[in-house]
Amino acid sequence: MKKLLPTSTVGSLPKPAWLATPEKLWSPWKLEDHKLLEGKQDALRVSLQEQQLAGIDIISDGEQTRQHFVTTFIEHLSGVDFKNRKTVKIRNRYNASVPVIVDEVTRKKGVFVNDAKFLRKQTNKPIKWALPGPMTMVDTLYDNHYKSREKLAWEFAKALNKEARELQDAGVDIIQFDEPAFNVFFEEVNDWGISILERAIEGLNCETAIHICYGYGIKANNDWKKTLGSEWRQYEEIFPKIQNSSIDIVSLECHNSHVPFNLMELIRGKKVMVGAIDVATNKIETPKEVADTLRKALEFVDPKNLYPSTNCGMAPLSRNIATGKLSALSKGAEIIRKELAL
Ligand SMILES: [Zn+2]
Repeated sequence: MKKLLPTSTVGSLPKPAWLATPEKLWSPWKLEDHKLLEGKQDALRVSLQEQQLAGIDIISDGEQTRQHFVTTFIEHLSGVDFKNRKTVKIRNRYNASVPVIVDEVTRKKGVFVNDAKFLRKQTNKPIKWALPGPMTMVDTLYDNHYKSREKLAWEFAKALNKEARELQDAGVDIIQFDEPAFNVFFEEVNDWGISILERAIEGLNCETAIHICYGYGIKANNDWKKTLGSEWRQYEEIFPKIQNSSIDIVSLECHNSHVPFNLMELIRGKKVMVGAIDVATNKIETPKEVADTLRKALEFVDPKNLYPSTNCGMAPLSRNIATGKLSALSKGAEIIRKELAL
């Protein structure tokens, strides 16, 4: 990235009320068939416009083309039964009704490739696309076929790799894998999580990112955070392996979290998307607050590797608040750019 401190969001932004019920996670589409496709594309245009007006440097689709960050991808795979669902506990935290793996999973055709091509046509700025990570996918399903989280994750990684290669060919500059499960299942991350992630990014020339957060600001996550004590050291368990991986960018939750900033020293040399916007509150950060977070991160991240970002997605927020937060992110980054230029 040529620009110093390029700003981006982790991924999701609010959807317009005519496409899906606002201020609600995973709300169903309000349109169908060709109207839905057109609606998603229009929403993508709006999302692009809002990011550009706010001065965001690396553009995402705002996840206007998906209902859920994991299941929308899984819907496009064969071997999954969406009708006879089962209830499982997600990330040891909350119950959810999930699809069941009943046969070999394969990706028959592109999932987001056409959406990425559409976004690519609309802007010359770098674009980033988010995909679910293999471990988080496994944790969002009931497996009645492979009977092994590792084997199923491996199959997902193969499907994700095909998708990622086509996204790269469609002109995507950064492919991001969302792995909130990495903050929970440390042993699995170190045993097989990273090597399976390497399978997902195999052969890619574009940049790759991994997003590891403490989740959307929903009650189950907020309650879980209360149990984590005054210092959140989850990243410490997994950073050494990430440091040795070929992932280029690591996306972290920082602002208003209890993550000690010095943990970033463990991934010195990687690019770091520093979360300087809290997505679990409606309070819009001031540019100064954003700058304070970035300044603290700069003790452990070289300026050329610092990518100011959000803690997680902003889908459940109101559009006004999300826009305000985007603008604060951009202005806060500008404060630090000026300081670095002195
Ligand atoms: Zn997140």
